[in-house]
Amino acid sequence: MCGVWSRHRDLESDMCAYSRILLAVDLTEDCQGVADRATVLATQSDADLHIIHVIEPLSLAYGGDIPMDLSSVQDQIHEQAKSRLAEFSSKIGIPEQRRHLVFGRPESEIHRIADEEAVDVIVVGSHGRHGIALLLGSTANGVLHGANCDVLAVRVGDDARHH
Ligand code: AMP
Repeated sequence: MCGVWSRHRDLESDMCAYSRILLAVDLTEDCQGVADRATVLATQSDADLHIIHVIEPLSLAYGGDIPMDLSSVQDQIHEQAKSRLAEFSSKIGIPEQRRHLVFGRPESEIHRIADEEAVDVIVVGSHGRHGIALLLGSTANGVLHGANCDVLAVRVGDDARHH
């Protein structure tokens, strides 16, 4: 009886504990609420918390249609993102070796780093207030589909603030 009970408890704790968490941030004002959830989850699970910000290349965002050299603008965007990610990560206690600043499509890069770092849950923000149509096109939805681990979508924006 005791054996069965303790096996059951082991199974339960295995299922509940996360050991590596990846927090995805777009570096807007909504990040703080998402980060708060991720840090609580990390503390409760005694897990390593990683953070990722993805810089979308301008050529990707504008389809490569702009007839000018965008490299200096892209460099400035990179420098700004680097310092904002460093500041935000320090504030919530994430060390340098667990910070990921990468270029590409947010969904794909979040999946790639999640696999590389073998995380067991990705935490993203989700704008529930915009309804299903916009939600379907959201980053949170893109991350959910194709992730090889759990995904926690934390409600952000005006809707979340009113609850
Ligand atoms: P969105 O669907 O673009 O409103 O973003 C929802 C959530 O996706 C954000 O709260 C972040 O968790 C994540 N996200 C969006 N863009 C990025 C990005 N460039 N880098 C990392 N995470 C992002």
